[in-house]
Amino acid sequence: MSPFWSATVRALQPYIPGEQPKLPNLVKLNTNENPYGPSPRVLEVIRGETADSLRLYPDPESNRLREAIAAFFGNIEPEQVFVGNGSDEVLAHAFLALLKHEQPILFPDITYSFYPVYCKLYEIAYRTVALDDTFALRIADYRQPNGGIIFPNPNAPTGRALPLADIEELLKANPASVVIVDEAYIDFGGASAVALVGLYPNLLVVQTFSKSRSLAGLRVGFAIGHHDLIDALQRVKNSFNSYPLDRLAIAGTTAAIEDREWFERTRQAVIRTRTALTQNLESLGFEVLPSAANFVFARHPKHDAEKSALALRQRGIIVRHFKAARIEQFLRITVGTDEQCAALVEALREILSA
Ligand SMILES: *Cc1c(COP(=O)(O)O)cnc(C)c1O
Repeated sequence: MSPFWSATVRALQPYIPGEQPKLPNLVKLNTNENPYGPSPRVLEVIRGETADSLRLYPDPESNRLREAIAAFFGNIEPEQVFVGNGSDEVLAHAFLALLKHEQPILFPDITYSFYPVYCKLYEIAYRTVALDDTFALRIADYRQPNGGIIFPNPNAPTGRALPLADIEELLKANPASVVIVDEAYIDFGGASAVALVGLYPNLLVVQTFSKSRSLAGLRVGFAIGHHDLIDALQRVKNSFNSYPLDRLAIAGTTAAIEDREWFERTRQAVIRTRTALTQNLESLGFEVLPSAANFVFARHPKHDAEKSALALRQRGIIVRHFKAARIEQFLRITVGTDEQCAALVEALREILSA
């Protein structure tokens, strides 16, 4: 703390990202990155963009990319798409643009831990709503006055997905609030609420290129919603940074969303591996929550999660452990390649029998 810090900065409680260790040969299953590389087309177009044109600013509206995203979904206009520097930035703008009102906003007690951080930054009041005993989100509990609602679907770090019918019920019950569905993991399981965007002007769906399209290092996320909501995001963006996406990011993500075959192949591989990993963990005695994401959330009735995470680390395998109420006995394990998951299961077998 320094006397030079503003009162705002003093009050912040910044998000702590999962570690990105530099050690070689690690089995890195801690930040939900995709184990497969991005589409080869992405690398090709990025190479093509590394030219003299880098001296020029990129398109401030990223129109090529917004058109490609609209075309991917089919029933969406480019004017209904907002893009940002990672979905974290898109979410940050959405908190300021759409969730800062008189009433507190609502989100689950166990969820993406960036949400309370944005609330602090923008001085937005919030109330958490407890997940039920099975770590499922109960729509009925969101029938209370609110300034907005946000949750990931599938939820993080539980991996549990909410059916589209429940989201629709929530939208109907809250016509005066913006409902933001953070679909960072939707391509690994759940049904996307993008299908509802045309019906509900209060719905904003946020997705990312970081997980299912294997571009966490390029930093691109997007939101889809009614033009009025997108307009609000544009106003914040153009009061903050006119060029959030650079030329490489625009070119790379446009190629990524156009390569449907690579997308299908790699996401199906992750889904297959998730099924095998779940069975293998269960055979070791773990309770594994039903996951629609590219990670599983698992606890062992007889073995302390933090100790197991440390023991895995000593064997060069990194998973995520949260020291938070209700979930401190869980490990969040990213679905890696078959080989990585086999190494994890073998290491756990040794640790549990020690
Ligand atoms: C990974 C993740 C994000 C952030 O993704 P970026 O696009 O890499 O910023 C947002 N929400 C949830 C729930 C996530 O897990």
